[in-house]
Amino acid sequence: MTFSMQCLNKDCRKFTTPLLDEETDQVVCGDCFKEIPNITIHVKNQLRGSRQIKKKTKAAKAFAIQCKWCQSNDVPEAKNNKLYCTNCQKDMECPQAFVNLFNMKKAKAL
Ligand SMILES: [Zn+2]
Ligand SMILES: [Zn+2]
Repeated sequence: MTFSMQCLNKDCRKFTTPLLDEETDQVVCGDCFKEIPNITIHVKNQLRGSRQIKKKTKAAKAFAIQCKWCQSNDVPEAKNNKLYCTNCQKDMECPQAFVNLFNMKKAKAL
């Protein structure tokens, strides 16, 4: 079961699925990625239990693209020289030049 709550950061205030940062033991908003303060240990355990964990690779976020189908802003998955949204699994129909750039940057980062 996915745990949801309202983000307390005033610029965001979205009803979000928060993520636990295991490195810092902080809980961050799944939309703005800012810390949500005053999270109880009970909630943190719940996040851990439902694997709502912030991905450790910070660099990967640099490749995030907004999906035109579901509006999710995430790092796409490259397959057959196309980029697929990891949220809705649709072909993001990115221009080929962008796909090449993505693959090149990704290869460098790894
Ligand atoms: Zn937020
Ligand atoms: Zn999508």
